[in-house]
Amino acid sequence: MLPSLPIEPEPRIIPAALPQPAPLNDFGTVLSPSQVRTFRDCGAKWYYKYALGLPDPPNGSLVRGRVVHQMAEAFFRAKLDGGSPDPDDLAASFDQAWDTAAAGAAFGADEDVDLLKRQAAMLTRKYLDEVAPEIEPAALELPVQGVIGGVAVRGFVDLLDTSGRIIDLKTAARKPTGVSADYAFQVATYGQLCPGASGKARVDTMVATKSLQVITQEYTVSPADLKMTAKLYPLVREAMRDGIYLPNRSSNLCGRKHCNFAEACESEFGGRVKGGEEDLA
Ligand code: SF4
Repeated sequence: MLPSLPIEPEPRIIPAALPQPAPLNDFGTVLSPSQVRTFRDCGAKWYYKYALGLPDPPNGSLVRGRVVHQMAEAFFRAKLDGGSPDPDDLAASFDQAWDTAAAGAAFGADEDVDLLKRQAAMLTRKYLDEVAPEIEPAALELPVQGVIGGVAVRGFVDLLDTSGRIIDLKTAARKPTGVSADYAFQVATYGQLCPGASGKARVDTMVATKSLQVITQEYTVSPADLKMTAKLYPLVREAMRDGIYLPNRSSNLCGRKHCNFAEACESEFGGRVKGGEEDLA
């Protein structure tokens, strides 16, 4: 019997690295949580707003939210300066705050501007009477910046309290069912960029239902939230640079009521955006 020959190992085939397409642009050089939220919700909307810079005036609901936010900021600013602000004194500046915010707005045909203004005044009062007095601000509208996952990121922290908790004010038409994934992403971002942030956060939502409510929800940034920021910022930047900006007509925020780019979007991609004349007929 012949001795068996040693078996030569199969040569290993090392796959060559796939050539990466060159980026088509330098979009996403600096990102923010709101850019990421917009891009993930609808690539076309992000393109119209941030890449082309098309006008994006606020609708009535946004004006209502901005005015409440501005009034609360005035209250906290006075507190930060060592004062004891009185909501009655601030009420005198409400009309001016509304007029300024409404000046550049695009109110929808189905929006009742007087009702929105009344709601803004009542929500402001409720917040200043019931919630704001127990908050001890350490910083307001704080610009923050840094690098996450190799991407430059910046934004503004609404309010940082003396315990290092980030507090955000929002207005909504419906009671929130929980802290949204977008909010978790935002506070995970700011928790990394904001000096003095503890990783704790709270979102105060002023709900404009028939009986006005303020819902406060506490949140703690988790390692999983941090991982998501480290993963998503570079991926979103890469996707922006790939140059494919798909319309998302299934988004909850797609429709003529919420999107100022509906005309451009229909004209470019075809199809039909909700809220047009056919829907109203
Ligand atoms: S209309 Fe809808 S699909 Fe088109 S850009 Fe706006 S949100 Fe996106």
